[in-house]
Amino acid sequence: MIARLVAALALAAPPQPVFAPPTPASAPAPTTTFHWQGTLSQGGLIRGTVPTGTVTVTLDHRPVPIAADGGFVIGFDRDAPAIATLVATLGDGRRVSQQLTIAPRAWRIERLATLPRVPVPDPVFAERRPPELAAIAAARARVTTASGWRQPFIWPAIGRISGLFGAQRIYRGEPGAYHGGVDIAKATGAVVRAPADGVVILAADHPFTLEGNLLMIDHGLGLNSAFLHLSRIDVRDGQAVRQGDPIGLVGATGRATGAHLHWGLRWGEARLDPMLVTGAMPVAN
Ligand SMILES: [Zn+2]
Repeated sequence: MIARLVAALALAAPPQPVFAPPTPASAPAPTTTFHWQGTLSQGGLIRGTVPTGTVTVTLDHRPVPIAADGGFVIGFDRDAPAIATLVATLGDGRRVSQQLTIAPRAWRIERLATLPRVPVPDPVFAERRPPELAAIAAARARVTTASGWRQPFIWPAIGRISGLFGAQRIYRGEPGAYHGGVDIAKATGAVVRAPADGVVILAADHPFTLEGNLLMIDHGLGLNSAFLHLSRIDVRDGQAVRQGDPIGLVGATGRATGAHLHWGLRWGEARLDPMLVTGAMPVAN
């Protein structure tokens, strides 16, 4: 159990520190403690500021990227353990420690009777999957100056939620991975919008076996979005996007039973619940 917890902790931190450009806003008032707002829950996210004079920050001994103005964002994995510890090391060597209590959640079980575990014959999948995974890993490793992590997120599409984050999925009786994002039921061709400012880190030029036409956007400080099953991608690799910009169209490419938008959100390796970050889905009109 302890080993599992340690492994989960190791997965929860982002790959490396990155720095966002300083904001023109006035400097924050000096403080000796961490300040934050957000949801201390599995799949949740907090944003805040570090103690004045902080040089480095760790979450459970893993480095946490901080912005030049002391801002930070931290996400808690779907399977995050109950306790996390933030430690700031100040310029004079002093340390400020803050224990965080992460609320557990109950996850739904979803049985998908018709969806195959993989949508192509196994030999084809075995050949095509490794380069796809490599492309996704390379995208996540990219560091950009995006500062969308500071913004309140908006929904990339407005519609009925047809699949919840975190649900344990069982395909034709075979247990699969849990659902790593939220599904929004929309017709093919519906516009997908950037939920926050960012930089495109992957714009697939062909459909991936599972994700279909995959678009990934970095929001800075280790936070990034993935949009799956698109029928069209309207941005290019490296492009800066603003919150609300059209970035592509809903589709049913890859492993999907019908047209919908799958939106995945991560902080480093931690998978987050977009509903906790964005809030309730507005009523469609
Ligand atoms: Zn999905």
